Amino acid sequence: MYDFAIVGGGIVGLSTGMALYERFPNAKVVVIEKENAVADHQTGHNSGVIHSGIYYKPGSFKARFAKAGSKSMTEFCQMHDIDHDICGKVIVATTPEELPLLDNLYERGLENELKIQKIGAGELHEIEPHVNGLGAIRVPMAGIVNYRQVSEKFAEIIRSNGGEIKLGTKVEKIDEKKDDVTIETSKGTIKARMIINCAGLHSDRVAKSAGYKTDMKILPFRGEYYKLVPEKRHLVKHLIYPVPNPKFPFLGVHFTRMISGEVDAGPNAVLSFKREGYKKTDFNLRDFTESVTYKGLWKMASGFVKEGFDEYVRSFSKAKFVESLQQLIPEIQADDLIAAPAGVRAQALSDDGKMVDDFHIIVGASSIHVCNAPSPAATASIEIGKEVVRRIPVQAHLIEA
Ligand SMILES: Cc1cc2nc3c(=O)[nH]c(=O)nc-3n(C[C@H](O)[C@H](O)[C@H](O)COP(=O)(O)OP(=O)(O)OC[C@H]3O[C@@H](n4cnc5c(N)ncnc54)[C@H](O)[C@@H]3O)c2cc1C
Repeated sequence: MYDFAIVGGGIVGLSTGMALYERFPNAKVVVIEKENAVADHQTGHNSGVIHSGIYYKPGSFKARFAKAGSKSMTEFCQMHDIDHDICGKVIVATTPEELPLLDNLYERGLENELKIQKIGAGELHEIEPHVNGLGAIRVPMAGIVNYRQVSEKFAEIIRSNGGEIKLGTKVEKIDEKKDDVTIETSKGTIKARMIINCAGLHSDRVAKSAGYKTDMKILPFRGEYYKLVPEKRHLVKHLIYPVPNPKFPFLGVHFTRMISGEVDAGPNAVLSFKREGYKKTDFNLRDFTESVTYKGLWKMASGFVKEGFDEYVRSFSKAKFVESLQQLIPEIQADDLIAAPAGVRAQALSDDGKMVDDFHIIVGASSIHVCNAPSPAATASIEIGKEVVRRIPVQAHLIEA
């Protein structure tokens, strides 16, 4: 019998595993991951940005955990010699209409107690000479890292504490009782005192199979990227972001210098017809049917027709994708870009059609479910892991004895 079984070997499951040993040093922990490697889904297919927390509602988990998480992630990388670079980012207003939005964002950043600066076109030109902008916010504490490498280190720490990571093992059914849980997997039965669901794109299904109704569904949004050809990487010195649309803050293509030296441009956001569908042609009947018959999707879509359509156009037309990128760097041309691997975001949508904005965790009798951990959850992962462990009910302290 394990004390804790974690479903999902992404960055959130692994950070939770690490945090468990801080509170329960003698616990028996197992991480159950269906793929043959850790970090194979969202964690291994993202922009690799260490976010500052500027965008998020003051006081929200996202705002607090991104701020604390960027610090803890940076310290973790320093301590374990993981390549990272606190290169800073600029958020750029390219039209007069965006200037008041930039001001609002700056105020929000100050409310979130971030040391950011507002800069004019001249200073922006010194930092990013190829960017077209009327003004910008400079966010010096933003950085880059490879979250797959971070996750591999988290996994190593779990193993060095005696924990197990069962790869290639899919959780299929959960029978939760007051004091323990029986987990049916593709490789046999596992028993634990408590199960912690960090299943990312499948977190709603895992919660449901444990008997929890969450009033929300995970919708998979594919984000497609291009890479700059090596000869054009010099056009991007740091991280270059547009001013987000306050109604759809997750939209908007940006330029990201990756820790490998490559430069990514993207992502867009289109509904994927498969939860782990990285290609346009990927299709899964169950995933597709669940998404398109979900009332929340249609409620959301009614307020999202133009933006949703534009995202699809960008998915199929490189010329339109390039046009969006040219708003930030006018000299970018289609030949400067080659298609790059996509990622799929797990975004929880509530029955009333609202995107669940904040991280969302529910606590059951012998279970905890991380039901919504979208961006910046990789940045915030160390803090999310600690929060999950803080929420373990007091009687579980018995395990410490
Ligand atoms: C395109 C894109 C760009 C992003 N950019 C950034 C960024 O720059 N900075 C940032 O901070 N965040 C970013 N994010 C968000 C970040 O990547 C995610 O929030 C984070 O990786 C979530 O981690 P996770 O562990 O919850 O999910 P995942 O990494 O998806 O891990 C969940 C794991 O659970 C496993 N699993 C699921 N079901 C089962 C089952 N039944 N049995 C066993 N295993 C199961 C899956 O195989 C998977 O490995 C981005 C995300 C995307 C998609």
